[in-house]
Amino acid sequence: MQCDYCERYCRLEEGRHGFCRMYANQGGRLVERFPDKWCAYAVSRVETIPFYHAYPGSRCMVVGTAGCNLDCRYCANAYAAKEDPASLADILLDIGPEQLVGLARKQGCHSIVFSINEPTVSLPTLTRVSRAAKAAGMPMGCLTNGYATPAATARLGEIFSFVNVSLKGLDPAFCGDCLGIADSAPVVRNIRELSRVSHVEVTTPVIDGENDHELDAMADILADIDPNIPWHVFRLLPTHKMSQRDYPNIEDINQRLEKLRVRLPYLYFHNFIGSEWVGTRCPGCGAEVITRHSLGCGGDKLDTFRCRGDVCPECGGHIALLGTRVDWNAGEVRA
Ligand code: SF4
Repeated sequence: MQCDYCERYCRLEEGRHGFCRMYANQGGRLVERFPDKWCAYAVSRVETIPFYHAYPGSRCMVVGTAGCNLDCRYCANAYAAKEDPASLADILLDIGPEQLVGLARKQGCHSIVFSINEPTVSLPTLTRVSRAAKAAGMPMGCLTNGYATPAATARLGEIFSFVNVSLKGLDPAFCGDCLGIADSAPVVRNIRELSRVSHVEVTTPVIDGENDHELDAMADILADIDPNIPWHVFRLLPTHKMSQRDYPNIEDINQRLEKLRVRLPYLYFHNFIGSEWVGTRCPGCGAEVITRHSLGCGGDKLDTFRCRGDVCPECGGHIALLGTRVDWNAGEVRA
């Protein structure tokens, strides 16, 4: 049988699992091998995911499962994404959908965000969580590599009202060498599709000498889809099979980005302490309407929110936001 959750379209013999090791052929049925199993749950600031334009300042519950359909040589979460999920079975947490939503509520979270590994490899479980979350009025977001099939992408759009898609590179040689996929055309297609139904932000981890020369081409693609897409250029700190590589030079990358900010007003550059490019400026008048700071290693924080709802306080122009500011302590923390 063929698995049609992602663009690998694995063929699964009876009793065997696919590349991600999260789906198997059991008696001619495609089944999830580890339903309702989680590698972690933790409270986080939504800016840290990163989401800069969805419910700024809010508290979210970050969750992840195991397995991945890509094979990124620099993966920062290889402990969960690239380990054999069967070897983690004893330490995975067994939490049903209602219980997970209850935990998020108890921790005063405004949303549940799937991060750490790839949601496409756990779609049935996430569908059930989304029903429980919807009943509780809790939005869901995710990080995804965007390598899902069109049908699975439609399901992602139904589950998640805010999505951050990782556009890692365009060159087929880079995709083959560093990501273990043939090309990133499905990712671009899915950014376009998801942006029709959900709030979309895009993250590009920059690797010196590998994909830094493609920033212009990626900016063209995003500007064509929607110039208001928030784009996070992420200074990658390579690990896993690339741990010997140098960290990207901040000034070099920023020089490349300066001219792209004309095309993409919500272009950010972060994942290092003290970034000067984590504030939001109004595309109309240039006023800084949201300030943040970057703590490095994906730890970002909202400082000030000056918009009135989604309107610039200086010129009245529209700021592209999903929702508006949500106070960190808006949710009730229950004992
Ligand atoms: S989701 Fe997993 S099993 Fe399905 S096609 Fe992708 S890698 Fe293969």
